[in-house]
Amino acid sequence: MGMSREPTYSPIDTNPLLEPWTGPFEAPPFDRIEPSHFPPAFDAALKEARAEIDAIAADPTAPTFANTIEALERSGRSLDKIGSVFFNLVGAHTNDELQAIERDIAPRLARHRSETYLNEALFKRIDALKAREGELGLSAEQARVLERYHLDFTRAGAAAALEAKAQLAAIAERLATLAAKFGQNVLADEKDWIMLLDESDLDGLPVFFTASAARIAADRGHPRKYAVTLTRSSVEPFLQFSARRDLRESAFRAWMARGENGGATDNRAIAAEMVRLRAERARLLGYETYAHYRLADTMAKTPGAALDLLESVWGPGVAQARKDEEALQAIAALEGGNFKVAPWDWRYLSEKRRKGQFDFDEGELKPYLQLDRIIEAAFYAANRLFGLSFAERFDLKPYHPDVRAWEVTGRDGKPKALFLGDYFARPSKRSGAWMSNFRGQQKLDGPQLPIVVNVMNFAEAAEGEASLLSIDESRTLFHEFGHALHGILSDVTYPRISGTRVAGDFVEFPSQLYEHWIKAPEMLRRFALHAKTGEPMPEALIGKLIAARRFNQGWATVEYAASALVDLKLHLDPKPGEVDVVAFERQELERIGMPEAIAMRHRTPHFQHIFSGGYSAAYYSYLWSEALDADGFGAFEEAGDIFDPETAGRLEKFVYAAGGARDYDEAYRAFRGRAPQPEALFRKRGLVDAS
Ligand SMILES: [Zn+2]
Repeated sequence: MGMSREPTYSPIDTNPLLEPWTGPFEAPPFDRIEPSHFPPAFDAALKEARAEIDAIAADPTAPTFANTIEALERSGRSLDKIGSVFFNLVGAHTNDELQAIERDIAPRLARHRSETYLNEALFKRIDALKAREGELGLSAEQARVLERYHLDFTRAGAAAALEAKAQLAAIAERLATLAAKFGQNVLADEKDWIMLLDESDLDGLPVFFTASAARIAADRGHPRKYAVTLTRSSVEPFLQFSARRDLRESAFRAWMARGENGGATDNRAIAAEMVRLRAERARLLGYETYAHYRLADTMAKTPGAALDLLESVWGPGVAQARKDEEALQAIAALEGGNFKVAPWDWRYLSEKRRKGQFDFDEGELKPYLQLDRIIEAAFYAANRLFGLSFAERFDLKPYHPDVRAWEVTGRDGKPKALFLGDYFARPSKRSGAWMSNFRGQQKLDGPQLPIVVNVMNFAEAAEGEASLLSIDESRTLFHEFGHALHGILSDVTYPRISGTRVAGDFVEFPSQLYEHWIKAPEMLRRFALHAKTGEPMPEALIGKLIAARRFNQGWATVEYAASALVDLKLHLDPKPGEVDVVAFERQELERIGMPEAIAMRHRTPHFQHIFSGGYSAAYYSYLWSEALDADGFGAFEEAGDIFDPETAGRLEKFVYAAGGARDYDEAYRAFRGRAPQPEALFRKRGLVDAS
């Protein structure tokens, strides 16, 4: 006989994911959320969303904007709410349990999307609305939302034949599974590798590096050692400063080999299958290649336009990099190095060259770039430009003790958003830097304030010391904060066009534009304060920094454009067959004349942007947006004030607050008063336009 027990309640009864969130900003109750809460919550939310969508499709009354489009905008709210908590945790603070749930839920969510976007009755309603759009009396924003929905459905295959629909659904499901696995594999390879150094291995490494390397080693159970990891904030400064060529080579090779180590975490077969399935999906939808499909709804519109832009910087970039390589080779020879410059030497020798040419190196800048001051600088510029104020909320408990929370208020003194900042690298976090929402802005049923997060991978300083950034990392912070502002300042009615829900090659414009402010001398004077003395960065050093702003841009152009070109070419094959992605990459690099001393910024087996991050066939987007930001900041320079209120007003209205409410070319012209001038991009990178 078994013992009689109290009846157990289903976890749903006490599942915080399924309760209304009533705390400040209706933020997720992170301290109560456990991984085990997600599966039953997803089950319930999927069921609810399915019922809502089926009801819209089966509505016996004639379609109206309200009963179809607005009803769709209101559907799936629980699923959005739970999904955004889940995927934010999966990216920023994951564990084995969450990863297992991710592998299970990713294909189920894809199936749900297919069931929605391939639903014939539902598409008929949207199509009917689109056909009589002129009679509906829609506002400009509503017309744009209708257009987006119509496009979303046709692009998903709503108008395809039944058999094709079944294939499309199966492909979407498989792609979702593969993308989840791809990301998990990169994280596993990054977590697995660590290089431990002794005192005798520290040649050339500055104190800021060894202090944080000691902290990482201690955290991983190796006291009195120093650790190099494969996170960019660790491996990059190591490659920049370590005088030990043998160790640089080991670290560099491990960094480049992520996703290509054989065994269970190898991504080569996954990437190949994804490329094949994407081509198949494009074919079923009537497009020549996946790249044609992917770019049809972007500013570039065609792969040809994106290729033209990439190729226009490639030639001048390589030419500049070749000149730089000669200079680096000479430095190596001077130091008695009898070797040909390799990719693991470039950063190290460049640092020496910068020291010689401009009389400073990264190590001198670093003490002036304190994380806390750079955060303050980002807030300050947002205040001057857009009237936002930031007050830290110590009472809120986000998903990890390192995560900070700020209440954002607008000019009118009313709350505008909750902003979370998650700045430090840790093994549970995906590499890179990103912005994401826990909730997007909308006002369909009254104002809904956004909850926006920035996630970085900076190295945390030793206990009691200020965490320091490199100039690149300071720019990254401003970049992601630019995305955050796009979410925070969003002022639209409909979720479908809110905040960053814009074309991929436009979305980097608000973020890259914002980077310009941290480079401005008046910002450096105010916020680049020495961590020990509090003294501002000396004028002479600011001057050197500005003089060197185009230093090494050939290399930066080449490492970026090589990745973007390989991405585009991989997706330009109409029938990829059994593609060997690494061989493809090698051939393509050979074809375009990749300098041997430079490596791609992201090699294919760990290229998360394109295999698990939504930038497939679209890594060119950064350069497309750069053509806008290089030209766009000029509006402030021409006004003679980097905070010019009138220019800032236009920027807010037409860009940061507008989401996807209007055509992007039009939005840019409304802000700038004219179309972008292409020379600005070449000027910014210091490249000579060969065309
Ligand atoms: Zn970005």
